[in-house]
Amino acid sequence: MTTIKNNISAIETRLRQAASDAGRTVSEILLLAVSKTRTSAQIDEAVAAGINSFGENYLQEAIEKISAFPKAKLDWHFIGPLQSNKTRLAAENFAWIHSVDRLKIAQRLSDQRPPSVAPLNICLQINIDNESTKSGFTSAQALGTALEIARLPGIRLRGLMAIPQSRNSLEDQRAPFRRLRELKDQINELLDNSQKLDTLSMGMSGDMEAAILEGATIVRVGTDIFGARATL
Ligand SMILES: *Cc1c(COP(=O)(O)O)cnc(C)c1O
Repeated sequence: MTTIKNNISAIETRLRQAASDAGRTVSEILLLAVSKTRTSAQIDEAVAAGINSFGENYLQEAIEKISAFPKAKLDWHFIGPLQSNKTRLAAENFAWIHSVDRLKIAQRLSDQRPPSVAPLNICLQINIDNESTKSGFTSAQALGTALEIARLPGIRLRGLMAIPQSRNSLEDQRAPFRRLRELKDQINELLDNSQKLDTLSMGMSGDMEAAILEGATIVRVGTDIFGARATL
């Protein structure tokens, strides 16, 4: 087995264990392989090990990689900061955008999503620890704007995403993920049945167990699949 294949199999074991600890089924949790800074050859190895969803956070780098793979074979998720002058490229090339942090970005993605493909799946990024260095809606802003975003025709509002501060103990790691889950429940009270959020994108290499215990449906894992990154 290659290192990447070994790593993926170790993560799958962790996912099964965490799901079982949470009383959940592992099939409701998507392992998103975060392939930023990785080569197409590394992505090929992950594909050979059964991964078909990849997360990228630099738009230009992502688009070069996406065009190197057959269309419709893989799902590409954008998880990085998105400037409003780059929304068209994002709307045309991805299946998911996890990092919508302003109403205006959601409106542009909706307008620019090609009508020939399914609506773009989006998550609102929440600045769950209210850090000045991180982007994202505050919880109050998300509550105030979710209804308007959910009505946009070119996108489908699926859920919430967050990148909490790093914390050491499992209990401490769970707290911000729990707040994100509670915010999703609150937003769902405002939405019609057909619009309910079903996605919590939370948990990375160092805290995915805590995220799964709090209801993560997508975990975004880079380092523990591909090894340490030279640069962020
Ligand atoms: C890089 C990145 C990840 C993956 O982090 P690892 O610690 O390498 O697993 C997850 N989410 C986002 C938004 C990232 O930018």
